[in-house]
Parts: sequence; C-alpha cells; structure tokens
Amino acid sequence: MADKYDVIVIGGGPGGYVTAIRCAQLGLNTACIEKRINKQDQPALGGTCLNVGCIPSKALLDSSWKYHEAEGAFADHGIQVGKLGMDVKAMQERKDKVVLQLTGGVASLFKANKVTWLQGSGELKANKQVVFTPHDGEAQTLEAENVVLAAGSVPVAIPPAEVDQNIVVDSTGALEFDAVPKKLGVIGAGIIGLELGSVWSRLGSEVTVLEAVDTFLPTVDQQIAKEAMKLFTKQGLDIHLGARVTGTKKNKNSVRVTYTLNGEEHEETYDRLIVAVGRRPYTEGLLSQDAGVTLDERNYIYVDNQCRTDVPGVYAIGDLVRGPALAHKAIEEGVMVAEVIAGEHTQVNYDAVPGVIYTHPEVAWVGKSEQEAKDSGEPYKTGVVPFAANGRALAAGEPAGMVKFVVDEKTDRILGMHVLGPQASELIQQGVIAMEFGSSIEDLQLMMFGHPSLSETVHEAALATDYKAIHVAQRRRKK
Ligand code: FAD
Ligand code: NAD
Repeated sequence: MADKYDVIVIGGGPGGYVTAIRCAQLGLNTACIEKRINKQDQPALGGTCLNVGCIPSKALLDSSWKYHEAEGAFADHGIQVGKLGMDVKAMQERKDKVVLQLTGGVASLFKANKVTWLQGSGELKANKQVVFTPHDGEAQTLEAENVVLAAGSVPVAIPPAEVDQNIVVDSTGALEFDAVPKKLGVIGAGIIGLELGSVWSRLGSEVTVLEAVDTFLPTVDQQIAKEAMKLFTKQGLDIHLGARVTGTKKNKNSVRVTYTLNGEEHEETYDRLIVAVGRRPYTEGLLSQDAGVTLDERNYIYVDNQCRTDVPGVYAIGDLVRGPALAHKAIEEGVMVAEVIAGEHTQVNYDAVPGVIYTHPEVAWVGKSEQEAKDSGEPYKTGVVPFAANGRALAAGEPAGMVKFVVDEKTDRILGMHVLGPQASELIQQGVIAMEFGSSIEDLQLMMFGHPSLSETVHEAALATDYKAIHVAQRRRKK
C-alpha cells in the first residue's frame, strides 16, 4: 500500500516550504519532497532563495557595501580607517554561515510543525500519485489528496556563452568567486546582472555589462530607470545597451567575448563572465507523460488565479507559474494554496507585488509605472520628490534618487509607487500597504510622518501629486 498524505509538496523553496508549514498549521498531514544537496554535500531546504539566490546575494551585497563605504564614504564622515584590506574567503565564509543558519532554521520549523521532509526527488504521475526517489534508496509511489508543485526555476542558458561555473558562470557561480576578478563581463542588465555586477565592482572589478535590449530596465518606471542608469554608470558599471553577444572563446584564465553594438563588431577579454539573462521554470523530472497538467506557451505550468492546475487537486506556485520570479510572490501563493486546500478563501493581490533591485541606491516599485498609466488612456497625476530635499537623507550622505507616485486623477487612488534611493526596499512597503487598503493619495497626504526620516519623502511625494509639497519648489503644469 502506498503511503498516503493529505498534501505532498514537491520542492522546498520559499514557495514549497511555506506551503508545507501552513498546511501543517491547518492540521493537514503534509510531506515536502526536496532534492537539493548543498555545497557542504548535505540535503538542504530553502530552495534557490536561501541557498543560491536572495540570501547569499544580499550577504555579499552588504559585505561589499561596507567595504565600499570604508574605502570612500567613511572619510566624508571624518572617520579614518588606516590601511584597508579585503579577505574574500572570510566574506564568503560569512555568507555561507548565514545560508546554513537559515536553511537549518527551515528544517527545524519542519520538525516543530511535523512536516515530513522526504529527501530526494518527486515526480507527478496520473491520479495525483507521486513517485519519490530518495537520494539513497528505491523509488516508491506515494498518494495524496492534494499535490503542490513548487519546483522553482533555473537560469536560462544562451548558446554563445556556455556556463562552466569556472570562467563563465551563472548567478550560482558568481556568488562563489574566491578572488576579485580584475575584469568582469556580465551578460544581461537585469536584476541579477546589476546586483552581482555591483558586488564585484565595489570590491574592485572593472565591470562591463552587455544588455541586448535598447532600453535600460524596461519594466521599471522610465524616469526612475534613467536616473538609476546615470548613478550606476557613475559607480563604475560600464553598461552597453543594444549589445548582442555573438560568441565566446575560453582560455585557461579568461574568456574572449565577441559582440555587436551599433552595427559594429567588438571583442573584449574578461577574467570572468556572468551570464544573467533570465530564469525559466524547472519542470525536468517533475512531470511524467501522464501527469495531465498543462503548460502555457512559455512552458510555465498553467494555473488559475488561485494556482489550480488543470488537474483537480494539483496546484502549482512560485517560479513554476506566470508572474514575476520573486520569493515573496512564491510565499504568498504558497499560503493561499494551503488555505484553499483547507477550505478557506484567500486571494493573492497580484496588483500589489513589490519589486526591488538591491543596488545602492536601491530601486523599488509597486503597481503601475507612469508609462502604463499613460497607456491605459485614463487621466493620471504624478508626484516626484528627490531625497536631496530630505534632512535625514542628507545627514546620512544619501541624497541620490527620488520617490514618485502615480495616481488616478478621477478617483485619487494610488496606481503605483516608485523609489530610487536609500532603503527603497523598506520604503516601498508603505505603498504596498496603502494600495492593499485601497487608499487615496489624500489619505497619505493627511498622515503624520516622523521627523527626520526617509519616509518624509514618501509624504512629500504624495503631497506633490496635488502641488502641495513644502520642501521642493513646484510649478503647476498647464493642462
Ligand atoms: P525555488 O526557490 O527555486 O525552490 C524550488 C526547489 O525545488 C529547489 O530547491 C529544487 O531543488 C526543488 N526541486 C525542483 N525539482 C524537484 C523535484 N522534482 N523533486 C524534488 N525537489 C525539486 N527573489 C526575491 O524576491 N528577492 C531577492 O532578493 C531575490 N534575489 C535573487 C538572487 C538570485 C541570485 C537569484 C538566482 C534569485 C533571486 N530571487 C529573489 C528569486 C527567488 O530566489 C525565486 O523567485 C524564489 O526562490 C522562487 O521560489 P520557489 O519556491 O518557486 O522555487
Ligand atoms: P532579468 O529578467 O531580470 O534580466 C535579464 C536581462 O538579460 C534582461 O534585461 C534581458 O533583456 C537581458 N538579456 C536576455 N537575453 C540576453 C542576451 N542574449 N544578451 C544580453 N542580454 C540579454 O533576469 P535575471 O537578472 O537573470 O534574474 C532572473 C530573475 O530572478 C529576475 O527576473 C527576478 O525575478 C529574480 N531575481 C530577483 C531579485 C530581487 O528581487 N532583488 C534578484 C535577483 C533575481
């Protein structure tokens, strides 16, 4: 007789482990199958996010920013540091410690919640049967009332730049350099290219970013993106838009990259090359021929707005399905699915998913950009206020960037909020909360904000949508 569970989750990343814990909280007998073996050669929960994504990248972003500040900004504050040194090995060991603490924490949460962690791979068959193949044992068939697919995503590969995780690396390899490359090439000026390009640039690499598309960060509000491009270029990222990589040739310690730019052929040699051109859903080994779930035209698992696949009782979440590949989106879908399975009614608000790029300054947004508001054809208003007008930002030496609101002119509802600036990742949550509550911009205008705080720029940008900002000179536009 096959083992039977209320819920089997395949994949123990932020989507999968959260689903499993929430199911267990709701009294469901739950197993989570996770096949990852970490760099310490141990089975590990936490998925891409905790092992090779959000967390290790932020650990290196924080370490490299501290180094960068010690190198330059400390002197502005009257702090002398003497001869500055760098220990990349220690930096990497610290990052690994943070990762192990968090992945171990998820394992403890599984124990505390009585979630069964099945270490090995899972494959969905017909009739909600799952074949579980342990790392060190025979395959066995399990049955479940409900199956949640949460297998995540993997980096997109491009033929001209084959990854060897030594000279030519994807994001996972780029988190593991044991020395600072003198010359670093990055293919793709997306989130990973900018974050990991920034890490190594701050530590001393000469970084060139080759981006195929002509527009920088096309999905970000373009007023913000243009300013960000200027700042990142000033920081040392040499970003080439409209650059098409045509080939690479590896040598022992370097790689020669050929690319076309403005109709001309170029050739450049780098010590390391990061390929960061997007991620794709990871369905290999997950679905048998007779599993019955449908894929969409981009190979994502097709789901409805509560993450149900075409097979009753089978759900899919996170990077496997439509929408942005973000940990918090996977988490909220996991909670929703667990609650739907338990008979509760929950819905993710896909109009209020925040996005953050953890550069310095950070870029963050939620809702519609100004272009999107314009394209909708409905009247809208905007309010933009720079951090240069904020006392706390100046005191901290962080005057770059701005806060921008996009507001429906007829209803006064907030359509979008965009931030380029210090702690944008934290400030954006104010826009998320306001939008979740369906607040008008007037609601924000009437609130009191602590002084001095970066949040005051959020307040001022809200006031600016109606020409009421105090700390910037605003001229009313002619209609
Ligand atoms: P994953 O985290 O990919 O987890 C899926 C798990 O399923 C994996 O551990 C895999 O081993 C397992 N699995 C797959 N197939 C099977 C199978 N057949 N059987 C058993 N197990 C299986 N997002 C953010 O929101 N903020 C960030 O700052 C951020 N930074 C990132 C930085 C980098 C460098 C990268 C690469 C990604 C980053 N992301 C970030 C994206 C984020 O990591 C993903 O969106 C998130 O991890 C998706 O969660 P998931 O649960 O859907 O899948
Ligand atoms: P991305 O989609 O953010 O950016 C990929 C970039 O590569 C795009 O600008 C694209 O135009 C470009 N590109 C595609 N093919 C190319 C080619 N052949 N040559 C040159 N450029 C090319 O993807 P990513 O940076 O790989 O990150 C993957 C996903 O992981 C992100 O979309 C995001 O969802 C997630 N992520 C999130 C965070 C965060 O939330 N802070 C951090 C890292 C990753």
